Amino acid sequence: METSTNEMSMAQRLNHIRQRMDAACVRSGRNPAEVELIAVSKKKSARTIDIAAQTGQRLFGESYVQELCDKSPEVKRQVSWHFIGALQSNKVKYLRGQVAMIHAVDRFSLAQELNKQWRKLDARIDVLIQVNLAGEQSKAGVAPDKVQQLAEQLATLSHVRLRGLMTLPPYAEDPEDVRPWFRQLRELSEQLAALHLPGVSMDTLSMGMSHDFEVAIEEGATLVRVGSAIFGEREV
Ligand SMILES: *Cc1c(COP(=O)(O)O)cnc(C)c1O
Repeated sequence: METSTNEMSMAQRLNHIRQRMDAACVRSGRNPAEVELIAVSKKKSARTIDIAAQTGQRLFGESYVQELCDKSPEVKRQVSWHFIGALQSNKVKYLRGQVAMIHAVDRFSLAQELNKQWRKLDARIDVLIQVNLAGEQSKAGVAPDKVQQLAEQLATLSHVRLRGLMTLPPYAEDPEDVRPWFRQLRELSEQLAALHLPGVSMDTLSMGMSHDFEVAIEEGATLVRVGSAIFGEREV
């Protein structure tokens, strides 16, 4: 069993991150209530997730379907899951009813499968479009000039609700160098919001990770996805 010292340090790490988030909001004239922390718990145990939940953390991000399905029944505290990883259409059924948001929709066929599965629940799944801003071969996501087309397609689905955009920008040692990508995602989101697509709200921007979440918040992030700064480095 993990000791209370570990619980203390988890609480302290989470508090420290929340303080840095609030400070970034204040610096940029934003309301801290607009920005939520997703604790990215991939490769971390149900027990560790429970310890984080005990400090008041409610939102957790996972990247692998099998891992989420194995772990979620073992987590005792009431938590909310966001699926932030690449998703194959044939695995969508395993996420049905388990997750509150899907961050990485990058093709209509995936959205159609989400629509089909959430129709069975008579519910609507919140989704984000993943945008590949720099056109990196190694990363998923739609090109910026294809986002509008996909957004228009998603707006036709009765059991999918497009809430905004997500990105995983190119890594840079200095978070300041990532700022232009975050700004670009916000501008793209504003352009889409101006289209007033039916049922599309564009109120969510998922951007910023452990080493650059403050810059992301300054540029308009409403969800930051933080893993290693909370849980320590992941074993690969
Ligand atoms: C793992 C992961 C994160 C968290 O990364 P850290 O650098 O550990 O904070 C955020 N977003 C996505 C999509 C991830 O896969």
